[in-house]
Amino acid sequence: MHVTVDIVRCTGHARCFAVAPDVYDLDDDGYCRIPAPEVAPDLEPQARDGAAACPELAITATG
Ligand code: SF4
Repeated sequence: MHVTVDIVRCTGHARCFAVAPDVYDLDDDGYCRIPAPEVAPDLEPQARDGAAACPELAITATG
């Protein structure tokens, strides 16, 4: 699975990180950053949950 974040849409709610801290991280201003865009199979459920938790629909998880 590959995950990306649209930094224009991201408004820093931090819900992605709250739900899926092993996939999503926050920068110093509280906006989402993704340390490893290629997600291992065991983290795919977490990646999906984090994407679904974003109220701005800023995260895309494919594959
Ligand atoms: S939940 Fe969405 S808006 Fe909030 S930090 Fe994560 S990607 Fe950005």
